[in-house]
Amino acid sequence: MPHPGILIIGASQAGAQVAASLREGGSTAPVTLVGAEPRLPYQRPPLSKAFLTGRATEESLLLRSADYYRDHDIDVVTGERVTDIALDADGTGTATTRSGRSFGFGGLALTTGGTPRRLTVPGAGLDGVLHLRDIDDALRLRGALDAARNVVVVGGGFIGLEAAAVARALGKEVVVVEALDRLLARAVAPVTSDFYRAAHERRGARVLLDRGVVGFEGDGTQVTSVALSDGSDVPADLVLVGIGLVPHTELAERLGLRVEAGIVVDACGRTSDPRVVAAGDCTSLDTGDGRVVRIESVGNAVAQARVAAGTLAGSPAPLAAVPWFWSDQADLKLQIAGLGTGHDTVVVRGDASSESFSVLYFREGGIIAVDAVNAPRDYMVVKRVLETGGSLPLDRVGDTGTALKDLMVRSA
Ligand SMILES: Cc1cc2nc3c(=O)[nH]c(=O)nc-3n(C[C@H](O)[C@H](O)[C@H](O)COP(=O)(O)OP(=O)(O)OC[C@H]3O[C@@H](n4cnc5c(N)ncnc54)[C@H](O)[C@@H]3O)c2cc1C
Repeated sequence: MPHPGILIIGASQAGAQVAASLREGGSTAPVTLVGAEPRLPYQRPPLSKAFLTGRATEESLLLRSADYYRDHDIDVVTGERVTDIALDADGTGTATTRSGRSFGFGGLALTTGGTPRRLTVPGAGLDGVLHLRDIDDALRLRGALDAARNVVVVGGGFIGLEAAAVARALGKEVVVVEALDRLLARAVAPVTSDFYRAAHERRGARVLLDRGVVGFEGDGTQVTSVALSDGSDVPADLVLVGIGLVPHTELAERLGLRVEAGIVVDACGRTSDPRVVAAGDCTSLDTGDGRVVRIESVGNAVAQARVAAGTLAGSPAPLAAVPWFWSDQADLKLQIAGLGTGHDTVVVRGDASSESFSVLYFREGGIIAVDAVNAPRDYMVVKRVLETGGSLPLDRVGDTGTALKDLMVRSA
């Protein structure tokens, strides 16, 4: 008889959600959630926000309590990294951890997330050159921030900018170094990028664009400055490198699954071997129209995990959720709904200099996404329109005299 149990490898946002959704869907199969970290699954977003400032405790980060897993008969195994995996012809398999424990399974979910991309330049191993992905990283960064005077953030993405805002609020000298010609280039339109550059500069950070890091200098152990590609040096006693994520795809590769900058999944969470599902930051979504899209966000991890759980339970239903994201930088709350890639027009609603405005993305006249900065109502309206298939008139959305919700045209 095939092994009845479901094994979920990676115990974080996506993995915990696969387990919870299996139970919510009525599955009574044995469920084991195995994770390399020594903690119960927790939220990462506060690591660059409230937890970094010391306003959130470690316990408050937990996604669910120990009682939840016990009450729902979910076996959580922490501190165990799966290093080997084999799948038999009948769909059952065995995973083995570094410490030698093995887990048989009849259904498999890969929710292995990723690890921060490292710089390979000289001096990258000096003390004070840090990354931010887990609680231990955040504790290290928090401690280093206390003592630091000159902080350099390498990478003008969300995590780097959030940490830069925290460092600036603590009174540190902050320099953000970005290799591209604008901040947040992968995620937002130039108008939003320009706003964030100006907003960070207004708060006292220096933002250096079009410059790469060629090395770190130190006193033998501790970093003291960052050497940039334009020949300049920036003093630093703390460097946060936030240049993206390398997805954990090793186990998928061992199983011979298709990997393209992530474990490729379809809209039902199936990998190239339909017996194996994957969800969250370790995946790339095959959109079915020739594109492979990577989204690293809580919203995506949760939505994909729900879908993957349905597939594991034998009732696959394609992902229908509208992508959403948020970022808190100083007193600026950015909320994004939809995907702006492929837009042909953007309309700015409101005055960016007031620090409360939104950027609406259109393709062929139809709304596809919004970046709302301190504008939660605009975010809610666009999200609703995207969810319900309604529309917004491109030629009128810039008129702040009319509430966006009054411009909403519901689908027939
Ligand atoms: C500092 C920070 C701030 C963020 N802020 C936001 C935000 O504001 N908004 C937002 O939407 N998103 C934010 N994110 C992104 C969000 O946290 C991620 O998208 C989300 O955590 C993805 O969840 P996941 O479960 O797919 O992957 P992860 O959270 O990376 O979890 C994967 C887990 O799998 C474990 N694992 C990997 N390989 C193995 C193995 N072989 N065996 C056992 N265990 C393994 C890892 O140790 C890890 O615990 C932020 C992320 C960070 C780091």
